[in-house]
Amino acid sequence: LGNKLQDILDRLGRESKLTEAQVKASMREIRMALLEADVNFNVAKDFVAKVSEKAVGQNVLGSLNAGQTVVKLVHDELVDTLGGKTAQPELKTQGNVWFMVGLQGAGKTTSTGKLAAHYKKKGRRVLLVAADTQRPAARDQLEVLGKQVGVPVLKVNDGETPAETKRRLDEYLKTDYRDLVIVDTAGRLQIDEALMDQLAALQTELHPTETLLVIDAMTGQEALNVAQTFDQRVQVSGLVITKMDGDARGGAALSARSVTGKPIYFAGTSEKMTGLDQFHPDRVAGRILGMGDVLGLIERVQEADMKAMEAKKPGDFDLEDLLNQLRQIRKMGPLGDLMKLIPGMSRALPEGFNIDEKQLQRIDAMISSMTVGERRNPKIIDGRRRKRIASGSGVDVQDINKLLKMHEQMKEMMKMLGRMSSGGGKGMRGM
Ligand code: GDP
Ligand code: MG
Repeated sequence: LGNKLQDILDRLGRESKLTEAQVKASMREIRMALLEADVNFNVAKDFVAKVSEKAVGQNVLGSLNAGQTVVKLVHDELVDTLGGKTAQPELKTQGNVWFMVGLQGAGKTTSTGKLAAHYKKKGRRVLLVAADTQRPAARDQLEVLGKQVGVPVLKVNDGETPAETKRRLDEYLKTDYRDLVIVDTAGRLQIDEALMDQLAALQTELHPTETLLVIDAMTGQEALNVAQTFDQRVQVSGLVITKMDGDARGGAALSARSVTGKPIYFAGTSEKMTGLDQFHPDRVAGRILGMGDVLGLIERVQEADMKAMEAKKPGDFDLEDLLNQLRQIRKMGPLGDLMKLIPGMSRALPEGFNIDEKQLQRIDAMISSMTVGERRNPKIIDGRRRKRIASGSGVDVQDINKLLKMHEQMKEMMKMLGRMSSGGGKGMRGM
């Protein structure tokens, strides 16, 4: 995928607004990336349609090129779809009852133990309820985990009705005060009606304040169906994605989140009781796209841009502005006539400074060889820097001198124009 992305980035040149063709070209790759990450086919399709619609006509961001801008937009939309920020389940001072639901093997029991450890550490008085009567060993498994993390476990008896469970729980809580009760329920390999009925009945009795659907990150295409069914039958309030330490890229998270709209609270990251993390939408978005590095790079470019922007006084006309304008001009086609239309342009140019396409290319190369700091504040460009920039862009130091002189004169011209125009300060920037 790394190569594919590089392709997108290379193929799309520098344009000021994203065109439909550019967006379309990159979206094919994005959809592939989503499907490779096991995002449900329909979710991927909807996502791509949504982000395409938003992307067309968008301005290319800062010093990113079109391809990078598309990737950035896709990433941001993914983060958004995954919930934006980290989220926590609601916790009242008392009376919290959480249901852990999900398919067999999803990681319910393990996650129940992890949550107990997590909230015990935060000063909560946790009680675990082993309600998985499906498999004989399931209740013992939770009991072991409870001992391990130092939290009591109430075991549901074989053949016990939900009402009886409720009564026994109330009884327990009378003698041992607990403010967070986490109920580990039974799962099946496949969704079945009997399981759902059983869960719903227990829910009716215990009135959970949260019903957390546990989904294995490796669930793949099926994640959508699982999440949808559980949500319809037992009103899921939040999600836990387990086994994020494996190879799975996390497409299941996107599918489950998209179809339920419920927050993803936690990510399981190991078999150990400490292997529970907050779910970070931004990290998982990068992982789903398989382009963590590319995005990191883009962020850094943007940060540098932002810093440089902040350092710049409004109304300044620096070399970066000059570069941008030259690029605009070059895109507009034959130059000679055009330049004459710009007020003051001919006077602003030093003698012997011919403007032709080739010259513009040289100026572009020269400014491109400068650091952002130099472009923002040309005053710092001393003799040594001039030498470096000249050799970097394949010109003589004299050319650099000429360019800097031209820029100085243009800047003066901008100031004049700015004073003249009632808008003030804008000058040729608006051209
Ligand atoms: P349940 O049937 O839903 O209760 O699933 P379990 O809690 O019994 O977990 C099934 C298997 O997945 C066990 O072997 C767990 O150790 C393992 N498991 C659960 N969560 C994670 C996780 O986040 N990472 C890894 N690597 N393994 C996990
Ligand atoms: Mg279990």
